[in-house]
Order: sequence, then structure tokens, then C-alpha cells
Amino acid sequence: MDYFLTEDQVMIKELVRQIAEEKVVPAREELDEKEEFPWGIMEVIAQSDLFGLFVPEEFGGLGRGSLELCIAVEELSRACLGVATTYAASALGTYPILLFGTDEQKKKYLPDIAAGKRLVAFGLTEANAGSDAAGIQTTAQLDGNEYVINGTKQWITNGGEAEIYTIIAMTDKTKGARGASAFIVEKDTPGFSFGKKEKKMGIRASTTRELVFDNCRIPKENILARPGYGFIIAMKTLDNSRTGVGAQGVGVAQGAFEEAVKFARQRIQFGHPIISFQAVQHMLSDMAIEIEAARALVYAVARYIDSGAKEISKDSAIAKVFATDMAMRVTTNAVQVMGGSGYMREYPVEKMMRDAKILQIYEGTNQIQRNVIGQVLIKEAAKR
Ligand SMILES: Cc1cc2nc3c(=O)[nH]c(=O)nc-3n(C[C@H](O)[C@H](O)[C@H](O)COP(=O)(O)OP(=O)(O)OC[C@H]3O[C@@H](n4cnc5c(N)ncnc54)[C@H](O)[C@@H]3O)c2cc1C
Repeated sequence: MDYFLTEDQVMIKELVRQIAEEKVVPAREELDEKEEFPWGIMEVIAQSDLFGLFVPEEFGGLGRGSLELCIAVEELSRACLGVATTYAASALGTYPILLFGTDEQKKKYLPDIAAGKRLVAFGLTEANAGSDAAGIQTTAQLDGNEYVINGTKQWITNGGEAEIYTIIAMTDKTKGARGASAFIVEKDTPGFSFGKKEKKMGIRASTTRELVFDNCRIPKENILARPGYGFIIAMKTLDNSRTGVGAQGVGVAQGAFEEAVKFARQRIQFGHPIISFQAVQHMLSDMAIEIEAARALVYAVARYIDSGAKEISKDSAIAKVFATDMAMRVTTNAVQVMGGSGYMREYPVEKMMRDAKILQIYEGTNQIQRNVIGQVLIKEAAKR
């Protein structure tokens, strides 16, 4: 299908496709097996200026938007979702600075982020606060010109590898969600350390660690916006980045679909390539239908965000749910089309199926997305 991408967007797509084919595809199996962080690939991405894709030009970026970021994420995900997650999580961690940072904060952090010199991570989740993010216990107490942070963040993508962390902590526990604030914390700050690296089902090239704050002192000016804005910042950040999770779904599904088609043309049973059997054709057709529908939706929502729309919660949640539920179905069916071969590590679809599962969980589970959509539907109905 023609999505009427501009010449510039096509160039970005082709550039990332080339990186994915030349650098990611040959490395993905080993990265997964060894659970290795893809530093070499991150360097190539940095050299291609892709970390600055959505960062304004005045801060050293390329000044493009959500659609371009989705295109890049989709192409990386087609090759390896672990690599794509590493890249996308840095964008997730950058959004709080981009959307709510002061000019000084932007000048201080964005040029290095855009150049790919410093990776970023976003820390919201804690052991007792996953879907119920308002239950976070990490605190940030003002002491003179510094905030003192105490607490532990769980399952943070790029934890330990990133240099810059945007985190949410309670500055006033008596105010509930309105007592949370967002901060920028740099990696080598005394009192800030990392827990063990998690062992995961999939996206094994991506690192997931605890962030541990033990009387970690940061300058007062590292707060984003104002005290009490933490949840607004977290929710707006996730609203902006969730379309990118949808793009991850489109990419991994596309990768699995292509593998399934290739296999179905080559595999002979009953004297014929299995692609000649209508049951197999229908599975592949359903995959093609679903991928195209999800891509159209993700691009449409990304364009809507780029238009400057303010109310994007419902649409970004819709794109995330649809594209990621689709990715789980398509990667599972790609394994099915390939039979026993699909189940073997020799082929990439078993990894793609393992990888795809996370998309229904992180950045808000798909059940929580349906809650988000439901809440907006109620508000919209009340206005009519
Ligand atoms: C690999 C990985 C990477 C991650 N990276 C990051 C990161 O970089 N930064 C970060 O802050 N977090 C990160 N997370 C955390 C992630 O966002 C959470 O895991 C997710 O939000 C769900 O929280 P939970 O796992 O605690 O599940 P829970 O909240 O315990 O939910 C368990 C189940 O109950 C359901 N449920 C809970 N409440 C409701 C409800 N009200 N209605 C319907 N169903 C409900 C959920 O949908 C889910 O199925 C990561 C997680 C993983 C696994």
C-alpha cells in the first residue's frame, strides 16, 4: 500500500532498512542467545543521526516528528525487537525533557541525546506500582538546593546502560497522584546504582534493570516543570510514545510474515509447496490484512500527533492495542505456518513470537489501554 510518505520519510525508511539488514539481522541471533546489549548497533544508529530524529533542530536534532520515529522503530523491529526496544526506550526517556524541559534543560541534555552520545531511560514502575502507577513509593525530598531521592524503580529498559534517567518520585505523599514530580538524574550521581539485569522471555538484546536510589542528591533545577506535575508528565510521555509501541508491533509482525511467506514457498509437502494449499494462503492473507490495517492506524495516529493535536490518549492507546495484539497473533501464526521449523531456534520466528509478547505488557498493558479508551469514551459521550 502507498502511505504517501514524503521523499524524506522514504529516505529515513530506506536508511533504517539498510542498517537493519546489514547490521541487525546478522547479529540478532547472537544478541538474543548471549543476552547482549547492542552497543555496536547503537553506534551505527548514532552515526546516522537517528537518535535525533524527533529532536528539534535548535537542539541538534533532525526536527522530524512522531511519524518518522515510528518508521524508524518499525524498520528496526522488523529485524530485531530487542534492538528496537533499546532505541525506542531512549526516545521514551527523552519525551519528558522534550515536552516539559526548560530551555536550559533542553540545551544541556538534548544535543548529546540527539548525537547518540548518551542513551536515556524512563523510570516509573516499581515493585508495587505497575498498572497502578499512582502507588509509587520512591520519594524526592527538597533539602536546600537539592532533592534527595530514595526508593527503587523496577524493570527499567536501558537501566545501567543509559546515562540520563527521567524518573517519577513523590515530593508530597499526602497529595496522592498530585504529589508526584518528574526529575532528570544522571548516571554517575552518588547514591544512584543499579540492580541485577533481568532474565527475560524475549527482547533479550534489551537490558532491563532496577534503579536504586539511596540518599541520591540531585540539583533542585533537575525537576521537570513543577512539583506535582509528575503524573501529568508521565501520562503525556506515554501518550506520545505508545504509537511507537504500535510501530514495534507492525515491524515485528512484518518480519515474521516475510519469513513465513519465504518458508511456505520453499517447503514441499504432498508434492507441492505448502503455499499452494488454501488453508496456508488464508493464514498468510489474514496476516497481510492485519499488518496493513495496523500500519495504516499507526501512521494515521502518528500524523495526528504531528499535527499538534492535544487530546491523543485515546488514539495512541487504540494504535498500541490494535497493533500489538495483532503482532502477537501474526508472530504466533508465522510459527504455525512454518510447523516444527517455526518452533526451532534455527529460524527467527520463534524469537519474534517470544519478543512480541512484551508489546502487550509494557508502556501500560493492553487491558489498561482499554481502560484508558473506555474513560475517554465516557467523557466523549457525556459531552454529546
Ligand atoms: C521487559 C520490560 C521492560 C519494561 N520497561 C519499563 C521502563 O522502561 N520503564 C518503566 O517505568 N516501566 C517499564 N516496564 C514496566 C511495565 O510498564 C509494567 O510491567 C506494566 O505497566 C504492567 O505492570 P505490572 O507488570 O506490574 O503488572 P500489574 O499491574 O501487576 O498487572 C498484572 C495484570 O493485571 C492486569 N490489571 C491490573 N490492573 C488492572 C485494571 N485496573 N484493569 C484491568 N486489568 C488490570 C494487567 O493488565 C495485567 O494483566 C517494563 C516491563 C517489562 C516486563
